[in-house]
Amino acid sequence: PFFKEYLIDTHTEFKPLKAKLNANENPYGPSPMAVQAMTDAVGGANRYAWRELFQLMDKIATFEGVEAKNIIMGPGSSDLLEKAAMVYFQNGGNVVSADPAYMSLIKVAEACGATWKPVPLKEDWSHDLDAMEKAIDAETKLVYICNPNNPTGTITDSKKLLDFCSRVSDKVTVFVDEAYLWYLDDGAKQSMVKLVAQGKDIIVARTFSKIHGMAGIRVGYGVAPEATLDKIQNITRGGMGISYPSVHAAIAAMDDEEFIASSRVNNAKARTFVCDNLKAMGIDYVPSHTSFVIFPIALEGKEFLSKMAAQEVGVRAFNFMGKNWCRVSMGTMPEMQLFIDALQKVIV
Ligand code: PLP
Repeated sequence: PFFKEYLIDTHTEFKPLKAKLNANENPYGPSPMAVQAMTDAVGGANRYAWRELFQLMDKIATFEGVEAKNIIMGPGSSDLLEKAAMVYFQNGGNVVSADPAYMSLIKVAEACGATWKPVPLKEDWSHDLDAMEKAIDAETKLVYICNPNNPTGTITDSKKLLDFCSRVSDKVTVFVDEAYLWYLDDGAKQSMVKLVAQGKDIIVARTFSKIHGMAGIRVGYGVAPEATLDKIQNITRGGMGISYPSVHAAIAAMDDEEFIASSRVNNAKARTFVCDNLKAMGIDYVPSHTSFVIFPIALEGKEFLSKMAAQEVGVRAFNFMGKNWCRVSMGTMPEMQLFIDALQKVIV
């Protein structure tokens, strides 16, 4: 594996950030309807939220075109990524994914004793589905696909991915992480969720943390056939980690279509602004379909992060494909201006 992340501690070593663009958070959230529902619900929080959680699961099932028994809830999709890894890799095995990929599931798999089989993304930044299929062997317990991918922000053709998932899931469970799919104009069309209704052994993970702007409220879910979910839920309980107010917030957020649409539009505006500025600076950014953009940097990762943090701007830095990269999340327009100003000072 050649994928590496550079990390610095922006919480204690630097002044508070003026532009926190390091965690792909939605700067506009939570939706006003979610805030209201959550506020109204706080007084009822002496109770567990099972009843309301089942209401939320019904609502999600209708939205996804499946049944409530096909839904697993978690406090953020991280919980589902980690639980799936713990259950699937309790006896070792290997996980096949792209490189670079979002590492949450893979890190837990490795901690359980599994091996990571990374398959480099193709030149066009899509998943190398042929190579991934070839990498599957008798020890492979799970294939992990993040589409759109993090940290690259790039997508894999949904038709090709559908064929891949459909075929490969006859051999091994495929976990598709669609955290950023809703930033696409036709997210629903590109989702792999339709394979669940066909009974394919596939888990699709989604989150309220991104386009719904609820990263700190902690609600996510997975969609999968009942037999696949049983494997996880026989050992761990999905919804137990979600708070009573959070469940209410999620129910309301699903109805706030105006907020979701405006998040998508505002995100695209910020992305165009950033990409235009990077281009003017002669920086060859990677075209993004998400709420973040990556571009190559000449500086060593930690040095770059520290210099940006000194300008009160938080971003992320990685090394892969033989280069260092900055990943910047889309914030408000004033935050993106701060980012460009800081970048101009740091990379001169
Ligand atoms: N999946 C991807 C690809 C992500 O980028 C993230 C967060 O950044 C997550 C999952 C987890 O988010 P959450 O636990 O907030 O749902």
